[in-house]
Amino acid sequence: RAKQAGKGTWRFASEQLNGLHMPQAQLEVLLRGALERGEFTLYFQPLIALRTGRVSSFEALMRWTSPVLGPVSPANFIPVAETREMMGGLGRWALREAVRQMGAWQATLPGVGVAVNVSATQFAHDGFVAEVRSALADYGAKPERLTLEVTESSVLGNVRQARHKLLELRDLGVRVALDDFGTGYSSLGQLRSLPVDVLKIDRVFIQDSGTDAAFIQAMVSLGHSLGLRVVAEGIEDAPAVARLLDLGCDLGQGFHFARPLPAAQAVAAMARLCPASGETEAPLSGWNG
Ligand code: C2E
Ligand code: MG
Ligand code: MG
Ligand code: MG
Repeated sequence: RAKQAGKGTWRFASEQLNGLHMPQAQLEVLLRGALERGEFTLYFQPLIALRTGRVSSFEALMRWTSPVLGPVSPANFIPVAETREMMGGLGRWALREAVRQMGAWQATLPGVGVAVNVSATQFAHDGFVAEVRSALADYGAKPERLTLEVTESSVLGNVRQARHKLLELRDLGVRVALDDFGTGYSSLGQLRSLPVDVLKIDRVFIQDSGTDAAFIQAMVSLGHSLGLRVVAEGIEDAPAVARLLDLGCDLGQGFHFARPLPAAQAVAAMARLCPASGETEAPLSGWNG
């Protein structure tokens, strides 16, 4: 359940549970028309440049509050939307809403980027690059501030086609991050041939105390050898920050810094994270190494 978290805002008390034990068909019924009824919002979670402690960008994360179920985790509703062909509309909405927010932030938060998740079917869609282009144009947003997060499985289905699309996105000037890195099966050869800018190491590696530091180190080195920025997801405490900094991670994201929050509260959290100034890390430009 969501619980009241002060200032009249609703916070997602936990990331799991709601909708989890509901049959897919029922979830699907509730999902139909949910977008038109305005049941979705985007939350934003900061990515921190570990060396400077500054906010470099925000990841946009979809939130669904069903009038019947309460808050439902994207981990539960996105797979249903994907199989029921409802992800097209949802993904387009998230992209446009993230770009709109980024455009709005351009004046007040210069240098801060926004990352948005792209589902496998959304990425595979023929019109995807055109949708990104028109979202940027419609909101007067700077392409180099936008990062698209794709997963290994989204690009591995058809590596040649994916590569072509990634090159088109690069031409547009947007950045691409490979999300949940380490959980898929991309070969080194494939990784090397893909024009991406950022590797996001999945939080299972960051949070599993059994994972050898050497393993994370290897992923960081791999990313750096390909000229990529490396992000650690799921940082929950200060010792993890120190460890990852030591291992050479460039950026970090996690509850230790801030949870995903509505846009205005995310900006407030940013002010708390970088109290010295409103300045931020240089944007994603120049990340190509
Ligand atoms: P992701 O893209 O890997 O996003 C990171 C997830 O980790 C988010 O879960 C975030 O809330 C969570 N997280 C961040 N820091 C921590 C931490 O310190 N500890 C823990 N335990 N978790 C942390 P969330 O928001 O539930 O999203 C889950 C997944 O749903 C995302 O994983 C992404 O794959 C998908 N998703 C969310 N929004 C969208 C969207 O707009 N479009 C698409 N296609 N997928 C989305
Ligand atoms: Mg992501
Ligand atoms: Mg991820
Ligand atoms: Mg993940």
